[in-house]
Amino acid sequence: MSAIIVGVLALQGAFYEHLQLLKKAAATLEQSKSIPASQWEFIEVRTKEQLDRCEGLILPGGESTTISLVAASSNLLEPLRDFVKLDRKPVWGTCAGLILLAESANRTKKGGQELIGGLDVRVNRNHFGRQTESFQAPLELPFLESLGSSSQDTSPFTGVFIRAPVVEKILPNQEGVQTEEEKREETVVAPSREAKDQVAKEAMEDHVEVLAKLPGRAARLATAGVDIPAEQETGDIIAVRQGNVFGTSFHPELTDDARIHAWWLLQIQEAVNRRRDAKGLPLR
Ligand code: GLN
Repeated sequence: MSAIIVGVLALQGAFYEHLQLLKKAAATLEQSKSIPASQWEFIEVRTKEQLDRCEGLILPGGESTTISLVAASSNLLEPLRDFVKLDRKPVWGTCAGLILLAESANRTKKGGQELIGGLDVRVNRNHFGRQTESFQAPLELPFLESLGSSSQDTSPFTGVFIRAPVVEKILPNQEGVQTEEEKREETVVAPSREAKDQVAKEAMEDHVEVLAKLPGRAARLATAGVDIPAEQETGDIIAVRQGNVFGTSFHPELTDDARIHAWWLLQIQEAVNRRRDAKGLPLR
C-alpha cells in the first residue's frame, strides 16, 4: 500500500525541526504499536502540488505574518484554506501555526495578515509579551495517555513558549461568527467556507475541545511563595482541537520529545481510515 504522506509547510519558521520529530515519532510508533515506519512519508510543502499529496499537514512556529504573506504570494493561501476548511484533513498548528488556524486573531492590524481559519477560536497574539519574555513550563497533557505508559510517557511535557498566543475565547460554531469578530478593533478574521461533501459536513459540526491549559496565575503566585491549588483557577488555554484541526501555543518541535507528534500521527491514521471506510476501502 502507498505511504500516508504528511507535510510540513516550509515557507518560514521551524519546519525542519518538525520533520525531524515526525521521523522520530514514526520510529516510536513502530516500536510501541507495530505501525511500520515505512507507512509514512514526510515532505516539505511549498507548492499546491505538494499540498495535494498530503493526508495531514503541520503549520510550524515562526512568524504568522510572514508565513501568511509568503503563502499569499506563492498562491498557497486558498489551497491551504481548502485543505483545512473544505477537505477537513488533519492539520496541526504550533504557535504561529495556531494563529493561522484561528478564525479570529487580535493584536493584528487590519489587512496586515491573513488567516487560514478552521478553529472556532479567537487567539490573543504575543500573550505573554516579547521574545525576551519567552519561557518553558512543564505541562500535563492528558490526551497523550492514549499513547500508553512507559516511564517517559507519563512525565510532564516541556512547553516552550516564544511570543506565544493563547486561545482567549472559544467562538460558537455557527455561520457568520466572523462578521461579529471583525467588528473588533485590531482583529482579523478568516473567510468562511462551506463543506463540500458529507465527510466534511460531519467534520465541520465538531466543537472546540480544550486539550490543555497553563495554570499561569498559580505558577506566578507559586514563584512569589503563595500556593494556589490549580483547580481554583481557569488558566490560559494552550492546546485545542476541533475535529481534525489541532493547535498548540507552544513549540514541541523545539524539544526532542516526539510524544505529541506520535499522538498526532495516530489521529491522521484514524482520519485516513474514516475516509477509506466511507468509500468502502480496506483500512490501514
Ligand atoms: N508571535 C508570533 C506571531 O505572531 C508567533 C511566535 C512563534 O511562532 N514563536 O506569528
